[in-house]
Amino acid sequence: MGLVSAKEMLETARKEGYAVGQFNINNLEWTKAILQAAEDAKSPVILGVSEGAAKYMTGFSTVVGMVKGMIENLNISVPVAIHLDHGTYEGAKKCIEAGFSSVMFDGSHYDIEENIAKTKDIVAYAKERGISVEAEVGSIGGEEDGVVGAGEVADPKECKMIADLGVTMLAAGIGNIHGAYPDNWQGLRLDVLKEIQDITGKMPLVLHGGTGIPDQMVRDAITLGVSKINVNTECQWVFAEKTREYIEAGKDKVGKGFDPRKLLAPGTKAVYDKTIEKMTLFGSVNKA
Ligand SMILES: [Zn+2]
Repeated sequence: MGLVSAKEMLETARKEGYAVGQFNINNLEWTKAILQAAEDAKSPVILGVSEGAAKYMTGFSTVVGMVKGMIENLNISVPVAIHLDHGTYEGAKKCIEAGFSSVMFDGSHYDIEENIAKTKDIVAYAKERGISVEAEVGSIGGEEDGVVGAGEVADPKECKMIADLGVTMLAAGIGNIHGAYPDNWQGLRLDVLKEIQDITGKMPLVLHGGTGIPDQMVRDAITLGVSKINVNTECQWVFAEKTREYIEAGKDKVGKGFDPRKLLAPGTKAVYDKTIEKMTLFGSVNKA
């Protein structure tokens, strides 16, 4: 199957009542771990790349080259999408030119008129090239790549206006936030989620800020139309934790334990395990 847009995998997920995970990548180790997990779990997968992460990896075309190379060399047979996460208007166009198969244009910080105008433009540009598009209404709380959102709850009527522009999937703020949830968090607004799904018809919905949402709430959200769930912080936590354990146990000082291929192995394995765990929760295992 290889590199595809996210359209078909999300429409199938929506129909069959599961969600496809978007796992953000930062480097070669993460990409390898997530692709291998998807292949072993026979699950479709979306590789999320923020503009900051793309810059870190030296540019959009490096990301595309690396992912295409791995699909070939690891014999990845499940569908894989490379998706721009929280893209700007300019960034979305640039990554499409570089070979991304899916983009998110995040116009949630504009007023609704400007969000509509810019989303419409990106949809037209992407559609010609067979690229899937995610749009956002109602910002998601927390901080991601320097973008700080207050976490407002989306207006279902505005969701309908954006959904009608021909986007593939829609992210709507429903009390979710990026990063860790505060102790006094009130939970997802599943009532608003239901309203959004009712008014937008069969539009696949996207849940950002998946880290720390109780498993049962995630399952409930999937039954209400969430077909794509973004995972980032949780992989970062387990990667850091396992890397720290390795160093603190002094393993880098034994033999050639300082070799980066050894040093980064426990963290990489932890990202693999976390990916499998999430795919199992989302119900996407054996769906590819
Ligand atoms: Zn997000």
